[in-house]
Amino acid sequence: MEFQKATNIIKHPSAVSRIDRANLLGHRSFTLWFTGLPASGKSTIAVATEKVFHKKGCLTYVLDGDNVRYGLNKNLGFSPADREENIRRLAEVAKLFRDAGVINLTAFISPYRKDRAFARSLSQGNDFIEIFLDCPLEICEQRDPKGLFKKAREGLIKEYTGISAPYEKPEEPEIHILTNLMTVDECVDKIFDYILGKGLI
Ligand code: ADP
Repeated sequence: MEFQKATNIIKHPSAVSRIDRANLLGHRSFTLWFTGLPASGKSTIAVATEKVFHKKGCLTYVLDGDNVRYGLNKNLGFSPADREENIRRLAEVAKLFRDAGVINLTAFISPYRKDRAFARSLSQGNDFIEIFLDCPLEICEQRDPKGLFKKAREGLIKEYTGISAPYEKPEEPEIHILTNLMTVDECVDKIFDYILGKGLI
């Protein structure tokens, strides 16, 4: 992750700052980094949360793991090395979005603690909020909205998180939600309680 290949590159300063963009938009920018098992609710809750931000007049964008794997990360699979590179790129994309003034919500399993720590290491102040969507594996398997747990159990998918690949739970997420015990709306309310409590918008 530390490797810098190109040499003789010198950063060019911008004439418009992140603060200028925040003043233009009327809100600060930050990342809501959702993490959890497949089917824990990352995409569902990120999309529902974005809708509320949008209604409040905030500029937002959801970065969804599967969507990004069709484009920017189409050359990456699910080996530990590819998962690391997947999250490294997405952490940098989230940082660019913050710099652009956009409140971004990321829906990636991001199973490894060290990769999430890397994403956090790019943040400034409190502009990175880790949200652990905690849901028992059995419930995720029952939900199975894409039928992928079934395929993984049948051995048709290798390296599937929760079945044949690890998930390392966050130790100190800013927000911890038990999605098996709350409705989607209640989960969104809990996120906004945090956002408003911290004065982020
Ligand atoms: P992920 O993005 O984590 O893989 P998804 O959002 O794609 O998960 O799928 C979660 C599934 O669980 C959806 O079918 C959703 O409707 C259902 N679900 C049930 N209760 C909840 C809840 N409280 N929060 C989020 N999703 C829920």
